[in-house]
Amino acid sequence: MIDLYSDTVTRPTPAMRRAMAEAEVGDEQRNEDPTTNALQKRVAELLGKEASIFLPSATMANAIACRLHTQPGEAVILDARCHILNSETGGLAVHSHLVPRIIDGDRGRFTAEQVEELITPAGHYRPKTTLLTCEQTHNAGGGSIWKLEQLQAVCAVAREHGLKTHLDGSRLMNAVVATGISAADYCATFDTVTLCLSKGLGCPVGALLAGTAETIARARTLKQQFGGAMRQSGILAAAGLYALEHHVDRLAEDHNNARRLADGLSTIPQLDVERPVETNMVFVGLQRTGLTAAEMGARLRRLGLIASQPGRYRLRFVTHYDVTADDVDRAVRIMRDALSIP
Ligand SMILES: *Cc1c(COP(=O)(O)O)cnc(C)c1O
Repeated sequence: MIDLYSDTVTRPTPAMRRAMAEAEVGDEQRNEDPTTNALQKRVAELLGKEASIFLPSATMANAIACRLHTQPGEAVILDARCHILNSETGGLAVHSHLVPRIIDGDRGRFTAEQVEELITPAGHYRPKTTLLTCEQTHNAGGGSIWKLEQLQAVCAVAREHGLKTHLDGSRLMNAVVATGISAADYCATFDTVTLCLSKGLGCPVGALLAGTAETIARARTLKQQFGGAMRQSGILAAAGLYALEHHVDRLAEDHNNARRLADGLSTIPQLDVERPVETNMVFVGLQRTGLTAAEMGARLRRLGLIASQPGRYRLRFVTHYDVTADDVDRAVRIMRDALSIP
């Protein structure tokens, strides 16, 4: 089976498992887990922030960030297809009681003018807009990359109006590897940043939230409230340290494989491959095949290929550590075979 469902399907490598097994541990809730502390320091440095906090998931990191920066009843600006809005089971409403102000972005990216239009001051009727979030890379936008200047521009207008800014940088390292721009440069314009370890970085669990020391101290209280505080979490943090050492540069292979897949799929006339392919994701429109994503997904699965189905006529393929160039070539052949089934 070739599993291109997501980069979350990666399994820890033998070397990562060894690093986990050998991790020094202590009680994380008392700040006494040395490996967790080392990971938090490492990620803060990587993202150019004063501090970071280790959490069970990027979903929790985003939820805590939204809580940190807002009061119930306020408004948050986000892209229509972003993860916070679409894939966190309404956490924005449940945990933070926020009103979403939605921008229909260009593959997840939007402009300072679009942001400014949605900023409402406190008034008798309107909720006050107090937070802006961006996603880098943008998952449902096609693994797309925000330009640094574009991020700086939207954050500048937000700051001018007193908004806080949060970056869902779950796949930030994909953008870093694809562009050569440092993580710290991308993060400098944001108050807080989420980094996920369990996507292309290949860890089994975990994410970090980074920001000022004061913000992260408040995040620690919320981590406890959310039930995210752990004990000997060094076993998990060790996987993160290992991944940051060994699994970042290799994301370039995933990007090459994604481009290879897109080129292969583009030779099949009925498919509409979304371009450009900027990182490790390939989205394909199926309208002209006459098959829905569910129908095509079932055919592919029978032939040994798994893709996700983010839309009625839209398939998503994600390349990752456990996928080779040969697998990608095989995936193209399977797609061709699936379409020739009468
Ligand atoms: C996967 C993902 C998350 C959530 O990550 P988990 O660690 O699985 O909770 C958040 N944001 C984006 C953009 C993602 O792709």
